[in-house]
Amino acid sequence: MDPKCIFCRIISGESPAGTIHQDDLVIAFHDIHPAAPTHILIVPIEHVQSINHLPKENTQLIGHMFLIAKQLAAEKGIDNSGYRLIINSGPDANQTVFHLHLHLLGGRPMRYPMG
Ligand code: AMP
Ligand code: ZN
Repeated sequence: MDPKCIFCRIISGESPAGTIHQDDLVIAFHDIHPAAPTHILIVPIEHVQSINHLPKENTQLIGHMFLIAKQLAAEKGIDNSGYRLIINSGPDANQTVFHLHLHLLGGRPMRYPMG
């Protein structure tokens, strides 16, 4: 837990967020600035800064994040219409929160570059 990290504060319950899923490994909540009708963030409970910081042996976490994205897409009814999954890493990708997260975007035809 990094007390300066907004996602750690959400995980600890210090900052409110509309939590839609929580288990031993991840939490999921709605993005505060949605870029599409459905915009959910799937976030590891453990503070991992980015994909660059993902421990080599931790293959379970990233797989679990994608399986939860698939589950939430079905729950939101966008599994068949389609959705986009994005992980931004570092400055060129415009990563703004340095706690790993997977964006789940859907609910309308996607545009490029994001959302
Ligand atoms: P990224 O640019 O990939 O680092 O994405 C960070 C995302 O976190 C952005 O889409 C923000 O809108 C979102 N975000 C930042 N603060 C909050 C918050 N307190 N609750 C929900 N989403 C947030
Ligand atoms: Zn954090």
